Amino acid sequence: MIEQPTGIEANYSLIVKDLPPNVQLVAVSKTYNAETVARIYNVGQRVFGENKVQELVEKYTALPKDIHWHLIGHLQTNKVKYIAEFIDTIQSVDSRKILKEIDKQAGKHNRKIKVLLQVKIAEEDTKYGLESSEAKEIFTEYLNDIYPNVEVQGLMGMATFTDNEKQVQNEFSSLKNLFDELAAQKPLTVLSMGMSNDYKLAIDCGATSVRIGSAIFGSRATEH
Ligand SMILES: *Cc1c(COP(=O)(O)O)cnc(C)c1O
Repeated sequence: MIEQPTGIEANYSLIVKDLPPNVQLVAVSKTYNAETVARIYNVGQRVFGENKVQELVEKYTALPKDIHWHLIGHLQTNKVKYIAEFIDTIQSVDSRKILKEIDKQAGKHNRKIKVLLQVKIAEEDTKYGLESSEAKEIFTEYLNDIYPNVEVQGLMGMATFTDNEKQVQNEFSSLKNLFDELAAQKPLTVLSMGMSNDYKLAIDCGATSVRIGSAIFGSRATEH
């Protein structure tokens, strides 16, 4: 029998209790099994985030169908078809090419898929994401109805992994500025930034959605 982590419901309640009412929580369940995810579902959470398509499909299949699944990791074009039917939001749109494919697959299923444009705000060059200028161009195309089967709800970003709070704050603020600039053209509702170690700062900088994994579920055995 696989041992279940203790205290995750308590971790969850403490986090939820302190979130401002306008901030959405995406519980990041990557690497945790369906049984563990179900415990957080059972205490009321309905929005979960995964970063790998295969793992996402497995959990979608195993878990209740009223869960809103968010993809938060880099997506390859040949894999969009596996999630197009059920995915609620794809937060990790990091190229024009992937957005085109999401639009095409959403059309095949006669639905609109909600997306966020992932913008590179961190210093590290290992992280995926659009440059601000590309994000603006793609948003303009969207406003010109080039992607009729997607709904661009806002932006997503990941700050540099550092103890330097000032730097993280600057990175979040730069994303908030871009968000405001785009939202002036057409209202946007979702600014997804902040993870377990920096979500409070992200909220102070204007996040409307936070992606929290390890602060709920405990540290991951294998990082990926
Ligand atoms: C893993 C992951 C998270 C959650 O990270 P924690 O530090 O466990 O809260 C958030 N966003 C993305 C894109 C991730 O890959």
